[in-house]
Amino acid sequence: MKIFHDIKSIRAELKKHQNIAPNIGLVPTMGAIHDGHLSLVKQIKQQCSTTVATIFVNQKQFNNPEDYQNYPNTLAVDIEKLKNSGVDILFNPSADEIYNPNFATTVGVNKLTDQLCGKTRPGHFDGVALIITKLFNIIKPATAIFGEKDFQQLQIIKKLTSDLNFDTKIISGKIIREDDGLAMSSRNLRLSKKAREIAPQIYQTLLKIRKQISHSNLEAILLSASQELSKAGFGVIDYLQICDEENLQPINFFNNQIKSRIFIAIYLDKIRLIDNLKI
Ligand code: AMP
Repeated sequence: MKIFHDIKSIRAELKKHQNIAPNIGLVPTMGAIHDGHLSLVKQIKQQCSTTVATIFVNQKQFNNPEDYQNYPNTLAVDIEKLKNSGVDILFNPSADEIYNPNFATTVGVNKLTDQLCGKTRPGHFDGVALIITKLFNIIKPATAIFGEKDFQQLQIIKKLTSDLNFDTKIISGKIIREDDGLAMSSRNLRLSKKAREIAPQIYQTLLKIRKQISHSNLEAILLSASQELSKAGFGVIDYLQICDEENLQPINFFNNQIKSRIFIAIYLDKIRLIDNLKI
């Protein structure tokens, strides 16, 4: 696996690949690599001739400075994991390489960003849209993969790609979970032992809601689920909602004709965890 830290050299390297094997696949990450990330690598390797992963903790998408400061950094182990998974090229730029001191451009996607995480994390998706635009311009991938774990992000990136005519196919990977059901996340590393023990209740709650959904009042189901989570020791619930998969608008009455998902963002140990489940 070749590792690049600057734009000029990765572009030169990718030019060589583009001439021989133009099907470049991209897996963007913020590091603290886990099996969720590696499942995306595996999936993209099946479709692409060259696999590029990126590790860049993008400050512009952190609306909470403490969350940015505490974001896990396990670079040496990450490199080993990506190498062993067959990544061909790793792009790991510094913050200065991506955002020069005079950087002045913003990128934003409307509507889809009004819902769910967009409500409680102002500016977050603008930061995501910006870094993905830059990575697509630097790497020019034929295909890029994003996890359903961040389902709203996936939909926003699909919209961004289509609206800005990027010549990149967006594919998605299923949520990879720990054996106890907790969705894998780099932020799980920051949970205390006690918090880690109760964290799987997030997924249990989503499963329970899905079971009840067709024969009960949605509002009552969601209220009772929230109360159970609070009792179990969770903190603030940013949202626990059922939304249309396409436009992310909340659904108040269950309709099996609409493709929908249950979405949750919840604090535990001051760590914000998200998850979702297809209905
Ligand atoms: P992150 O490093 O958290 O920015 O995530 C990088 C990519 O991995 C994003 O496309 C995420 O949606 C995806 N991802 C994170 N956790 C999981 C998971 N548990 N299962 C599948 N994909 C994931």
